[in-house]
Amino acid sequence: MKRRSRKSSETVLYGLDPLIIRDPYEIVYRHSYAQDSPFFAGLTKGKLLGSHCPKCRVTYATPRSHCYRCGGATKWRAIPKQGTIHTYTTCYYGGEAFLDETPFILVLVAFEGVETLFLSRLIGARPEEVRIGMEVAARFSSTPSFRVTDVWFEPKARP
Ligand SMILES: [Zn+2]
Repeated sequence: MKRRSRKSSETVLYGLDPLIIRDPYEIVYRHSYAQDSPFFAGLTKGKLLGSHCPKCRVTYATPRSHCYRCGGATKWRAIPKQGTIHTYTTCYYGGEAFLDETPFILVLVAFEGVETLFLSRLIGARPEEVRIGMEVAARFSSTPSFRVTDVWFEPKARP
């Protein structure tokens, strides 16, 4: 007669694979862009808006309400839609929104006459093709969502 032991039952429990249950949840997060709103609205019109300090004559690629040199208020100014890659990195993992795109390339773009760099994605080039100094051009979503992903860069088309 086979003897059932309590200990073997516990061993089975302890050896279980991890239990996985489905428990969906959703959060609607209301986010205000506040004084940066013109930047996101500009993307829907195919414009890259930066900030300009009239006193220091400095233009910033990323919106800022005040100049980091003098502290004075800045004014909006369109910046070039073409630039060069200052540096880049290849991301092999990312947030959920980007998992389907991995590996993807992030670039810091430098623009002529603009003091700061602009962080964006580079699309249309494989990681091994990217070079510092590569000329790139901004592209804008035809179905904008008022997010930073409404703009990205692609290698500048050669004539
Ligand atoms: Zn200034």
